[in-house]
Amino acid sequence: MTHTMQAAQVEQFGQPLVLKTIDIPTPDAGQILVKIEACGVCHTDLHARNGDWPLKPALPFTPGHEGIGLVVALGEGVTAVKLGERVGVPWLYSACGHCEFCLAARETVCAEAQFGGYTQNGGFAEYIIADPQYVAHIPAGLSAIEAAPLICAGVTSYKGIKETQAKPGEWIVISGIGGLGHLAVQYALAMGLRVCAVDIDDDKLAHATRLGAEAVVNAAKGDPVAAVVAITGGGAHGVLITAPSLPAFKQGVGFTRKWGTCVLVGIPPGEFPMPLFDVVANCITVRGSFVGTRKDMAEALAFAAQGRVKADIELQPLSAINSVFERLGKGEVPSRVVLDFSSHRASAVQHT
Ligand code: NAD
Ligand code: ZN
Ligand code: ZN
Repeated sequence: MTHTMQAAQVEQFGQPLVLKTIDIPTPDAGQILVKIEACGVCHTDLHARNGDWPLKPALPFTPGHEGIGLVVALGEGVTAVKLGERVGVPWLYSACGHCEFCLAARETVCAEAQFGGYTQNGGFAEYIIADPQYVAHIPAGLSAIEAAPLICAGVTSYKGIKETQAKPGEWIVISGIGGLGHLAVQYALAMGLRVCAVDIDDDKLAHATRLGAEAVVNAAKGDPVAAVVAITGGGAHGVLITAPSLPAFKQGVGFTRKWGTCVLVGIPPGEFPMPLFDVVANCITVRGSFVGTRKDMAEALAFAAQGRVKADIELQPLSAINSVFERLGKGEVPSRVVLDFSSHRASAVQHT
């Protein structure tokens, strides 16, 4: 086995990632080494590269929290996974396991949590160290490429929809039909909800319609709140805001039906104004939702294993990451880019 690997790292916020050859890390006691087969590119990776958020990662770091691969080495004492098992290394990289939130299956807000591709090196590399207690277990029947978008975009969408508490037959608005949103449309339909998709790009909306959304609204045209209220007969019971854009948030509160819940998952830097009278007098709940627990992860993957949810994927090599980021920032990625590390594809490309 060679001792070095390729990794794409952020050396300075706002600058292109640097493709480097670095040593393959060695798992300590309680850790595992995973050989990455595929890693999705989330808009969060772009926020991380830009240093958008108050909690900043230490430089340099390797982004990527949708990495899927095979366990190739076990640190001392590891029993939770086996060599050769296919796992995913998610945003919730690890947590303490014993605080009030971990005990209550709210581990995503653990104060000791580590974040993959942020506070710990992520999957934009050929190998990654992971915590075997927190990896996603990829069901048989899902390839690494198919699974990659599910371990962040999938689980976040699925959990966010659950947090709206919308019931089968009720309306949900999905605002932002990108990596998260195109999966959210599918999860919502599989959960029996009526879907109204909102985006600022007609191609994304056409895709939502192909996926089964009953109605679409272009938020860049006319009065999107009036349109959603008319379509849903008074507002949606649940609203999920995935858009990385501040105007979408105030609109999302406006999309919400009386006694409905607006769940925020997009994280553009900044704040948004909340019309207090409307929120109070309509008894609206506005809440955040942060990825999902290990149980949510298993549930989200099961929908895909049963063929009810499928990510739309564009494959790219690791070396294309900077052009992928540029397109993602402009809203030009159709659904999800997955970085493909398989040698099979590398040789297939050489022969064509
Ligand atoms: P993406 O770039 O793939 O998709 C974003 C979509 O939003 C695009 O289709 C874009 O056209 C659309 N959009 C832009 N402005 C809009 C507006 N004003 N109204 C409606 N739609 C609009 O991004 P993604 O990977 O799906 O991530 C989306 C956001 O979710 C990012 O901010 C990311 O950091 C965040 N995120 C949060 C969590 C969490 O746990 N809460 C997890 C993953 C990602
Ligand atoms: Zn993500
Ligand atoms: Zn904890």
